[in-house]
Amino acid sequence: MPLFSISKTVRPYSPEMVVLEKKKFKKPLKFTVILGCVIFITILCVSVGIVSYFEYKNMLYDRYEAYITDVLNYVRSNTDVDDLSECLSTGQKSEKFEKLQSLIDNVKETHKIEYLYIIIPLNTDKTDNVMNVMAAMTRYERENDPSAYVELGGLTGDSYPSETAAKYCKAKDSKAIVFFVDETPEFGFDFTGILNLKTSDGKFFAQLCVDVPERAIRTSVQDNLVATILVIVGICIVFTVAFIFWGSKRVVDPIRKLEKSVVGFVDQKTCGELRYEAPDIHTGNEIESLSNAVTHMTEDLDGYINKVVDAERESERLRVIASDMTELANKDSLTGVKNKNALALHVQELQLKVDDEENFAFAICVFDCDNLKTINDRYGHEKGDRYLVDSSNFIRNIFKNSEIYRAGGDEFIAILTDSDFENKNELVDQFYRELGEIKLTKENEWEQIRITMGIATFNRKLDHLVSDTFRRADKSMYSNKRIGKIANGSYQSTYFMESDDAYWKEQYIIDSFKNAIDKKLIKVYYQPIMRINSGKLVLLEALARWIDPVRGLISPGEFVGILSRHHTLHLLDLYMVESVCEEFTLRAAEGLPLVPVSVNVSAQDFDFVDIPQKLKEITDRHGIKPKNIIVEITEQDIAEGTDHFKDALEKLRQLGFKVWIDDFGSGYSSLNVLSRYKVDRIKFDMDLIRHLDDNNGANRKILSAMIEVCGDLGIKTLAEGVENEEQFDFLKEVGCDLAQGFYFYKPEPADVSIYKFKHRSADIPHELDEV
Ligand code: C2E
Ligand code: CA
Ligand code: CA
Repeated sequence: MPLFSISKTVRPYSPEMVVLEKKKFKKPLKFTVILGCVIFITILCVSVGIVSYFEYKNMLYDRYEAYITDVLNYVRSNTDVDDLSECLSTGQKSEKFEKLQSLIDNVKETHKIEYLYIIIPLNTDKTDNVMNVMAAMTRYERENDPSAYVELGGLTGDSYPSETAAKYCKAKDSKAIVFFVDETPEFGFDFTGILNLKTSDGKFFAQLCVDVPERAIRTSVQDNLVATILVIVGICIVFTVAFIFWGSKRVVDPIRKLEKSVVGFVDQKTCGELRYEAPDIHTGNEIESLSNAVTHMTEDLDGYINKVVDAERESERLRVIASDMTELANKDSLTGVKNKNALALHVQELQLKVDDEENFAFAICVFDCDNLKTINDRYGHEKGDRYLVDSSNFIRNIFKNSEIYRAGGDEFIAILTDSDFENKNELVDQFYRELGEIKLTKENEWEQIRITMGIATFNRKLDHLVSDTFRRADKSMYSNKRIGKIANGSYQSTYFMESDDAYWKEQYIIDSFKNAIDKKLIKVYYQPIMRINSGKLVLLEALARWIDPVRGLISPGEFVGILSRHHTLHLLDLYMVESVCEEFTLRAAEGLPLVPVSVNVSAQDFDFVDIPQKLKEITDRHGIKPKNIIVEITEQDIAEGTDHFKDALEKLRQLGFKVWIDDFGSGYSSLNVLSRYKVDRIKFDMDLIRHLDDNNGANRKILSAMIEVCGDLGIKTLAEGVENEEQFDFLKEVGCDLAQGFYFYKPEPADVSIYKFKHRSADIPHELDEV
């Protein structure tokens, strides 16, 4: 039996590719052959049976006719018809009559005939329709049944049925012998032959008849039929068995063997080896030739697979070489992260994705190692290398799911997509937190990783190309670096992120504002306001600062406008008043002077809450007198204010709060607002002070005129944004009452201002006069 196996390391196809179901066939070949044979035998038996039945029956009748004819002719030839006719007409039996009787008796005895008789058919009535002339009797009948004897000329007692009698009557006219089959209750089925007897002058006088029982014919026909069928069935069974035996041996079994081998070949589950077990088929017919062809085909397949496997091995080898080369070409040999080449390829891919997918999002982080140069100079390049490797590992550890690239000497890039992109805020947070921990714990400078990071999120409004996002990330990194250095090397300030990404920022502010309030992340910074004449501190302005754990310090300039657009500014202002009152209590507890505080309130706040009522509630709750809280409303808000707003301001004043106009002279209104609104003080816009000498000193004239008018109207004045002595001297000269600005103090957190008052109150001259 030919057997070969093919050993392969790579399977050229998977078994799942060709699934031959080993199902049970409903009509297997053998069953079909047997069924075919049975149907064939049945049809053959039935058709041969029918044909043989009729053939045999006809033959039998023919034979009986010939037999009856012989008997009738024999008796007729030995009959003297004229004598018999004479006997009939005279009623006297002649000697010849007696001889004829014994002749027919003898014939009946020797020829096994049912009846042999001579009659004269009379009519077709129901009774007395036939006259018996003579009837043959066997010896046995003569001795045991004398009644069967027929008296010459006597009428039969048992009359023939009229149909039968009619048949006899009808036969009278026939010259030949007449045959018919007849059934009578008396005699059963009979096959009858009638020969008309005529005198020598041709006159009919009687009928010579022979009856053969039909039963005998039928039995014979049936016997013959059964025998025929038995023979046919026997032959067919022999033939079928022979055919099935031959079919099994030469057709069915070889096909089964071939099927088993082919299915076994195709259905091999073991990877790595293909075996074809060629079936042992020697039928000498087309099946043997088919089996040989299949064997050859599997052998050819062996050669083909060998080639495929070799080719695959070769291509795998080349692929490995190519990927090794690519990896080498794209890898930074020092840090093991990818290099600039790989980055360039990734940027190209990103650009394609950005062009193809509308919603594709990614962010770019730019990292710069801060003091590589110092470490190289101080400790040598070996330490510098270590510093770089540690830095890259640090970055890799945080941005685990992102590709990290070394873009230059001390610069790394991370491209954040998918999960890292979604978690970028947490990751940046983690980055700074862990960076801080390293610096604290590591003693050697080359182990103290310091990295400045910048991040930019791809934004279709801002970025045409991926390189634009890179540029923004770079910019963000440099700005963070700058701020980081200003802030005493404190990395806290590097929390500033994505400075250009306005959309991102707005979203962040809206999402985090409630949390910032709840967690008191928004702090009150206080900026002192000075009396110009005395040079003493008379009150403080409360200014909001959002100290965010992710984005660091967020100034009101960044979030106040956004809150206003989203109608949540009143929450900030009430929170500020509440905090200011709390800090009043703290100050009082420390026994510090309670200088009044001005708070910024927006006109929009009045649309959402009853500000006078609310402020009263808060101050009452904290036991703060309303006169210690000053409400600053901008000139713009006043100019656009409704009557309702005007009434509310009036109510505030009635409740004892002071109302000031902020940013006065910024150009939103004219002096006549002063006649419409009753306010306690106006705060000149910073721009007026800042540009005192512009336009031939126009602002000097405007400010001095306005201060004079205010004096006439009994409105007090304040100038903010005072940054130098010249500005201060001018204000003093024109009689401005109060001043505020970096020239005196910058805004400071509450605890700083409390600390200063507590420990250095002598350095902070103040007065608690009514302002
Ligand atoms: P503003 O009410 O006119 O506040 C004065 C701003 O000028 C403050 O900026 C202050 O830090 C700054 N400033 C003070 N002196 C000088 C100086 O000598 N030179 C310069 N260049 N600037 C000086 P800040 O704190 O950033 O506030 C900006 C604006 O944000 C405020 O302008 C105010 O309109 C708004 N704001 C701040 N806090 C709140 C608040 O709690 N509620 C509301 N509604 N607005 C607030
Ligand atoms: Ca203000
Ligand atoms: Ca102002």
